[in-house]
Amino acid sequence: MKTFKTLQELWSYFLYCPLCPHVERVIDISGGPAETFKVLSFKKKDHLLYLNCNKGGKYIINCLDNSIRSDIGQYIIPVFPNLPFFFLNITGFCKKCNATFAYSGNLVIDPIAKLITNIRIEYQDIYIANDYNITYNYDYDTMNIFKSINGGKPCSLPLVEFDFFDIETVIKKLKAYILFS
Ligand SMILES: [Zn+2]
Repeated sequence: MKTFKTLQELWSYFLYCPLCPHVERVIDISGGPAETFKVLSFKKKDHLLYLNCNKGGKYIINCLDNSIRSDIGQYIIPVFPNLPFFFLNITGFCKKCNATFAYSGNLVIDPIAKLITNIRIEYQDIYIANDYNITYNYDYDTMNIFKSINGGKPCSLPLVEFDFFDIETVIKKLKAYILFS
């Protein structure tokens, strides 16, 4: 499990591409449950995240303390304890290498405390040299590795964070993992 204390920390992690130094990934946000709560557009300025949602809902999230408030004085996310919870999903995608994708878990909106909770990354996909694919599953602290070109069955291993700046060493390790799995 990989969690973040604040939305700002998650945002920084999602911005950074593990394969491309100094490249910012494209971040997208959606809301859920999909039939009830949608994020139509968003804008981030410093630590404030502005959400423009369906039903005219406009929210501001303070990414440093995870608080959420309504911009128009009316908080449309209903407070019904037994209803499905409302949440945000964040993705990060590198347009330069086209090879790294990060997906958050459901960032839960607590309508009583007016806080974003459960701030965590769920998956990350990394394609290396068009040849190897690593899928990190942070909920289970595992990773699946497979050779993209020949397909083949993925090998599932305990999660290892690689130093992707030394890509040759990473490829050697991946070859060894596949060979001995
Ligand atoms: Zn990249």
